[in-house]
Amino acid sequence: MDSHYVCTGGCGGLSNTPGTCQAETCPKHDQPLTECHCEDTQHTEVMTQTEAGE
Ligand SMILES: [Zn+2]
Ligand SMILES: [Zn+2]
Repeated sequence: MDSHYVCTGGCGGLSNTPGTCQAETCPKHDQPLTECHCEDTQHTEVMTQTEAGE
């Protein structure tokens, strides 16, 4: 899989192009997706990231 963009809010949002989360029930709705380059669809490099603050 080439680079893709995933939501880290837990909704499972995935896009092949930059954008924002489209899931209205997601904590990160309308927030930018995070670029990921994984090849196993686990998005480990993104999902293990922790954001500063709350
Ligand atoms: Zn989301
Ligand atoms: Zn990924």
